[in-house]
Amino acid sequence: MTRTMPATPARPAAAAAGPLDLARVRAEFPILAEPVRGGRLAYLDNAATSQKPESVLRALDDYYRHKNSNVHRAVHDLAERATTAYEGARDRIAAFLGAAREEIVFTRGTTESINLVAYSHLLPLLQPGDEILLTGMEHHSNIVPWQLVAAQKGARVVAAPVTDRGELDFEAWRRMLGERTRLAAFNHVSNSLGTINPVAAMVREAHARGIPALVDGAQAIAHLAVDVRALDVDFYACSSHKAYGPTGFGALYAKRRHLEAMAPWQGGGDMIRTVSFEGSTWNDVPYKFEAGTPDIAGAIGFAAALDYIQAQGLERIGAHEHALLAEGTARLEQIPGLRLIGTAAEKAGILSFVMDCAHPQDVGTILDQEGVAVRTGHHCTMPLMQRFAVPATVRASLAVYNGSDDLQQLERALHKVRRLFG
Ligand code: PLP
Repeated sequence: MTRTMPATPARPAAAAAGPLDLARVRAEFPILAEPVRGGRLAYLDNAATSQKPESVLRALDDYYRHKNSNVHRAVHDLAERATTAYEGARDRIAAFLGAAREEIVFTRGTTESINLVAYSHLLPLLQPGDEILLTGMEHHSNIVPWQLVAAQKGARVVAAPVTDRGELDFEAWRRMLGERTRLAAFNHVSNSLGTINPVAAMVREAHARGIPALVDGAQAIAHLAVDVRALDVDFYACSSHKAYGPTGFGALYAKRRHLEAMAPWQGGGDMIRTVSFEGSTWNDVPYKFEAGTPDIAGAIGFAAALDYIQAQGLERIGAHEHALLAEGTARLEQIPGLRLIGTAAEKAGILSFVMDCAHPQDVGTILDQEGVAVRTGHHCTMPLMQRFAVPATVRASLAVYNGSDDLQQLERALHKVRRLFG
């Protein structure tokens, strides 16, 4: 079925001016008032998933109360409301990333977006001996899909080294772009280190050799302004839930010519134009990649989350988080026996560390007793943990609603760890 719904005009919310009003921001996130372990919550696990503001909760509630229906399929009023809201969300997401609406494929998140590119774009092109170039700081979801398709074709995955500070060894990466490289895939921001990669330069280098580039933007879109057109990137993957939106939803940006050339990867309703037992034909892009009933509320919630980010202003959010990162780094550096993993010059709000007195898991348990929510483990970056010769790290990751009080609570809890284990 071809889409006939008129696209809702994108509604870029006006960014507020002046410094961030933290009390006001916090009041918009009801869960931050939730007592944990009988005390105040310091939520510092934002790289895993961020909390959701009232505007997103309201958008989800409003959808189910007033619009719930299936999309694209019926002519009744509710179906039209649902379709208008759903396709309006596509316009919002496209505008946020600087893309055209046809270039935004809705997915379950970054992981599914990367898998889609692996199976639909890369697999048919791969030959034995071909290479997919990664970096040593990739999330498993930007490693394993490539391994799966490479194994089917006798191709291989290679990864460029990471320096002791947790930066990409750019020259080494550049040298690894070779005759056999079919795709370069790298994250915009490392979830384990906070490193911001020079993605524009990387795309340029890849393109200079005729190699397409995919950027994993899971940790970027809530913290940095992203313009896929300015980056000239071929594919950009992101998740809603790390950017104040609902879980289980995300998007793949892909240049239209790639989407046109790619075969569908899942079959079912809505992705077809015609079906007969002799064969089927495909819907227009991006719909040919969206089989079955989609997560309609997810799209609407994601768009509301992007409106929220835009209303706060990415520049203000970035400045706020950057100041907190500097403060957090200084506080952690004062703690005896604590070692930061990831001290890149260009860093987003992530503080990964190990302590000589306790395993990260034990550190996380004590922090939890003190109301501090952090992530401990390998953060789905096992090769990176091997690179730094640690089994795991403790990771405190920042969002717009964090403040100095959260960092102080973290610092106090880390001193307790030292008292208990030191
Ligand atoms: N890439 C990076 C850098 C991530 O941090 C994550 C999640 O932590 C992912 C990919 C996977 O995202 P999702 O689980 O939302 O698909």
